[in-house]
Amino acid sequence: MDRELLRKNLDNVIWKIEQARLALNEHHIVQIVAVGKYTTIENIKTLYSLGQRAFGENHVQQLAQRSLELKDLPIEWHMIGTLQKNKINKLLEIKPSLFQALDSFELAKELEAKLANKQQSLSCLLQVNSAKEDTKSGVNPEVSTEIYLQIKEECPHINLEGIMSIGAHSDDVKKIQNSFETTYKIYEKLQKNGANICSMGMSGDYELAIKCGSNLVRIGSSIFENND
Ligand SMILES: *Cc1c(COP(=O)(O)O)cnc(C)c1O
Repeated sequence: MDRELLRKNLDNVIWKIEQARLALNEHHIVQIVAVGKYTTIENIKTLYSLGQRAFGENHVQQLAQRSLELKDLPIEWHMIGTLQKNKINKLLEIKPSLFQALDSFELAKELEAKLANKQQSLSCLLQVNSAKEDTKSGVNPEVSTEIYLQIKEECPHINLEGIMSIGAHSDDVKKIQNSFETTYKIYEKLQKNGANICSMGMSGDYELAIKCGSNLVRIGSSIFENND
């Protein structure tokens, strides 16, 4: 992909984020995680050279390959996809900056056991299925606070930094907004327990997510596809 096109896409995303965050509050800061799952490692390198530092992948295998190949660059790697239990060891070898898709207490317990064994710790976000869709992983919004606190209590090697959610899969903006508002309310409650990341918003809905309080957006196609 052409460097100038990547630059244009990134500038465009940054500009829209800027408008959305200023509409909320001039002190509100939003982090961009560029999602590389549909693109090549070359494009990731180019985006890095344009100043982007945080990248996300949704498969452990891809994350392992790319983080190894680009190990000389100070990239912050995020695992944003569902983690199969048989991939836990592989993920822990990579030592990502943030695992955003911790989606059950059971997975937390398995992670905790392996982390304790390796004397390692891992920063995570609890994934909440705010739109309650069968196709999505994540804990139910009603029990999310309780599970969050339970993980904090019982898993000392997991640093819970907040929550992650995927907006409702719908053409109805109101439904998407509702799912973001549900997520934000949970995040707001958990701030007194140390939560500082509210990860919501993808290419199709990040401006709305920011207006609802998101401070981390995960963006793939708006950056890595030709959007003309
Ligand atoms: C693919 C993916 C994204 C980015 O999706 P786009 O719509 O391409 O921006 C964000 N979050 C998760 C969990 C993903 O799997």
